[in-house]
Amino acid sequence: MELLPDCPTYGGIGIPHSAAACNGSRRARPAGGAPASARPRRDRAAAGKYHSRVLRPRPARSSAASKSPRPAWLALAACGVATPALAAGLLPLGVELRARAFVPGEPLRIEVTAPEPLAHVEGAFLGRHVSLVRAAGQATGGERWSGWTMIALDQPPVVGVLEIQGRSAAGRPVGATRAVTVGAASFPRETLSVAPSYVEPPPAVVARLERERRKLEAVYRSRRAVPLPEHVFLRPVPGELTSVFGTERIYNGQRRSPHPGIDLRAASGTAVRCSGAGRAVLAEELYYSGNTVIVDHGAGLFTIYAHLSVISVKEGAEVSAGQLIGSSGATGRVTGPHLHWGAKLGELPFDPEALLDERLFAAGR
Ligand SMILES: [Zn+2]
Repeated sequence: MELLPDCPTYGGIGIPHSAAACNGSRRARPAGGAPASARPRRDRAAAGKYHSRVLRPRPARSSAASKSPRPAWLALAACGVATPALAAGLLPLGVELRARAFVPGEPLRIEVTAPEPLAHVEGAFLGRHVSLVRAAGQATGGERWSGWTMIALDQPPVVGVLEIQGRSAAGRPVGATRAVTVGAASFPRETLSVAPSYVEPPPAVVARLERERRKLEAVYRSRRAVPLPEHVFLRPVPGELTSVFGTERIYNGQRRSPHPGIDLRAASGTAVRCSGAGRAVLAEELYYSGNTVIVDHGAGLFTIYAHLSVISVKEGAEVSAGQLIGSSGATGRVTGPHLHWGAKLGELPFDPEALLDERLFAAGR
């Protein structure tokens, strides 16, 4: 099986950004569904800047997704949501899906309402389990549960079915299903030649990389049952985008995993603010991503802050939105300071800019 690099927070091989990366970024879909004119300008990437990667298997993208001739966000207009027939005897639940777009690389927020209190409810979407958490503010006369799921970067266009099932406090089975039309996405692609040492980690660090990989896997397995945030997240630094999410990279003829986050321009020493309330579940130096903070926002949602010069939060500490968690820098496999900001549901990366979009948080959209 082909081995492919992944997110710096997994620990991985160093991959250089380049001017070519920047040019590719200009052809990127307008992630977030916003008009291209409203997107931050992406001019030059810092020359010689290195990015962190890890070898891991990943299925090839569908040709339909990678060759889509139109911007991915247009797929939202074609998205249809229907409700397949429910099994007889189920107490039906209300289901609301919130998303910036129903395309690969996007998170989906699920809001479930029940006419009576529930003992338990959970879901499944595109082959993955969906954790649902009882919301802090309860609907009048019933209950509201919320959870996250997402459309993976390598998901081909499909009509997926969101299945929700559980049991009421009175013992009645509850459930709901929703069909979701997943559109195609296109991402920029870069073809670069790099020194072999940037593709194969030195033997001396293999054991360290394995330790870091296991720790990160344990971090991303957590599903803290805390109510989902009700407010949009904050941009961790004010700087503009220098590398977009999902950029596909081919190094020395080998395909590598797409960029698992975004890079934001930030001079060394720039204050890095936590984008949302949560718990700092990792705060340490990692081989490729340097000084790294990972915040667990509950229900499988994580944000990642990499290449910091200083870490200002202790592992295990509760953090609030806007709290200083470090300073930007150029630690790890980089040659220029910037902030790599990532977001994940479990181990699957999605575009963190989606967390800045009110459509994920505002009701009735
Ligand atoms: Zn990055």
